[in-house]
Amino acid sequence: MKEKDDLIMDMLKTFKRLQVLEPIQAFASRNSRIGNWVGLATGETIEIGGNATDEEVQELRKERNDLRNMVKDLKSAMDSKGGDGAIKMKLKEFKKDVKKLEKEKSKLLAALQQAQGGEGGGGGGGDGAETAKLMLQVEKLKKKLEKAEKKGGKDGRGLSPPPPGAPPGPPPTAVPPAVDDGKVKALEEENAKLAKKLEESKAKYEKAKGKLEEVGKASLKGQEEILASMASEMEKLEVSSKKEIDEAKKEAAGKEEEIKKLAETVKKLTKTNEALKSSNSGLGVALSQLAKKSGTLTSEFKLLKSQVHASMKTDVPKIAKSTASQIAAASSNFMKSIEDLKVNYEKEVKERKRLFNLVQELRGNIRVFARCRPPSKKELSSGDESSTICVEFPADGEVAMKNEKGKEKNWEFDQVFNTSSTQEQVYKEVSPLVTSVLDGFNVCIFAYGQTGTGKTFTMMGPESNRGVNTRALYELFDMSQKRRSTIEDKITVSVLEVYNEQIKDLLAEDVGERKYTVREGPHGNYVPDLTMVNVDSLDEVIELLALADLNRSTAKTNMNEHSSRSHLILSCYIVSTNKHSGEVSRGKLHLIDLAGSERVGKSGAKGLALKEAQNINKSLSALGDVIAARGSGSSHIPFRNSTLTQLLQDSLSADSKTLMFVCISPVMYNSEEGFCSLNFAERARKVELGKATKNVVKAGK
Ligand code: ADP
Ligand code: MN
Repeated sequence: MKEKDDLIMDMLKTFKRLQVLEPIQAFASRNSRIGNWVGLATGETIEIGGNATDEEVQELRKERNDLRNMVKDLKSAMDSKGGDGAIKMKLKEFKKDVKKLEKEKSKLLAALQQAQGGEGGGGGGGDGAETAKLMLQVEKLKKKLEKAEKKGGKDGRGLSPPPPGAPPGPPPTAVPPAVDDGKVKALEEENAKLAKKLEESKAKYEKAKGKLEEVGKASLKGQEEILASMASEMEKLEVSSKKEIDEAKKEAAGKEEEIKKLAETVKKLTKTNEALKSSNSGLGVALSQLAKKSGTLTSEFKLLKSQVHASMKTDVPKIAKSTASQIAAASSNFMKSIEDLKVNYEKEVKERKRLFNLVQELRGNIRVFARCRPPSKKELSSGDESSTICVEFPADGEVAMKNEKGKEKNWEFDQVFNTSSTQEQVYKEVSPLVTSVLDGFNVCIFAYGQTGTGKTFTMMGPESNRGVNTRALYELFDMSQKRRSTIEDKITVSVLEVYNEQIKDLLAEDVGERKYTVREGPHGNYVPDLTMVNVDSLDEVIELLALADLNRSTAKTNMNEHSSRSHLILSCYIVSTNKHSGEVSRGKLHLIDLAGSERVGKSGAKGLALKEAQNINKSLSALGDVIAARGSGSSHIPFRNSTLTQLLQDSLSADSKTLMFVCISPVMYNSEEGFCSLNFAERARKVELGKATKNVVKAGK
């Protein structure tokens, strides 16, 4: 038995080596004993009779997958090694293993037969031995019995009663009982028992024998099946390898064909090469012919060259002369057309100006330009939410602002200057208005907005980057200079400040307590006794402005504070006389830097500051009222409500051109004031002042 176990174990190990676990498992599920062996040999749990646990099933699946992978690896190894050499080697190995298995099978069969033969020879298993012993005992007992019977017959005593009809024996009186009756009975009983036991043993033996045969048959069948599956696997492998070999052969045949074709191509090419060689020699001939031809051409060229030389000496100067005269004619034509263009251009410029004035005159609106200052360095670097940029410029002439509550609004103005607009760009748009002063118009330009939004920057500007004021005066002087031959201009300047409703003459020798009032005069409202300085050049004006600035600041300790609480008005009066017609025109230009438009509540002002704020509010709200009254077409315009509106009366009336700069800050924390300023400016823009008129007096009047 031990040998048999070992044989089966060996076989299973071989199976494992051959990686044919599936047939083993099938085999194992048919025979629990073999199943245990399988487990022993492979170290794995084998499902027996379908009662496997989940884990076992999983294990088996894993095992199966591993097996599949191994088969795959084997295949890919075969593929990668390519050639049928590898396949053949594998096959050889496989065959060897099969042979070994067959040997093992025959050994196993022999062992099985031996196991069966042992039973027949009586030297077998326990049952057989026991039976033999029992039989021997029975035999002995039989002999004993016979002996006893023989003995009984001799002395007339038998174990059994004398058969009927037998001659009567001696009378029973002659008894000497040689054999004990009880002993015989006991023996008979024992005999019967043994016989029964014998029968039982025999039956047991038959049963065991049957079982053993079954086992042997089953195991044989299993082994045969495995062998058959291995054989079919082998066959499959042989077929596939054969197929591969065939394919390789086919491929080789194809290659041969290709090589043949290539050889043919080489042959053809060689032929072509030879043909080319021969044609090459033909070309050599052609080349020499060409060389000859080129020689003749060269001589022809030389001839031609000398001819050209000759004609150059005679014809070219002639041609040049005629060309030059043509060019001269063309250029004089060209010059003339340039001249025409220049004239046309000047005409166009004049026409444009005329149309501009016409449009402005007809509309008579208060023109509104919005300007947004750039964010300061501090605002840019703060990173604070309140310093985020809240303005946008969606289109030409449009500005959009967002406030802290997320409200957004879009405004449209005659011009919108964004954070990167220059003083030059701003002035360019103001210039036509300024120059119309020379034609006798009243022009008023004022800057409106919260403190710190660029009013002073726009109107005055720093020395290095002058604003509207200086640029306007420069242009006036420049134009006046240019028309000097026909028109004589007298230019006068005044600078005043309105602070707490009081007028301060900033050009006066003694800027003191003196009170000024606004009066109505023949040429509009005026301030009696106000210092009016005649100027002939820009330099003089700049000097005056410096003086005004000095006068303004000496009176105040906190200049910034003061300037934001007062209105500064630079006025320019131009009286122009036409030297030929004697016609006199009067133009007035007010350039105003208004006080900050911020509301009082915000700064929490008290005392004097409150009074200042109230006064600013008064003049600015009076300005608003005037604008509103004009907008609604009211017959009563409340000019008299504040010093500012009184001063500007003739510039805010029908016959004037008014431009308002609304200045705004680009950052969020100013957005509320920004909204107010832009809304105010929007209302102002809707006001139609009516057609502006020139203030011209015919000569002699
Ligand atoms: P306001 O007169 O309205 O109180 P300012 O003209 O004094 O405001 O301007 C406030 C600050 O912003 C100043 O430092 C000024 O130089 C600067 N500023 C204003 N507008 C501009 C601009 N367009 N470009 C550059 N800096 C400007
Ligand atoms: Mn200012």
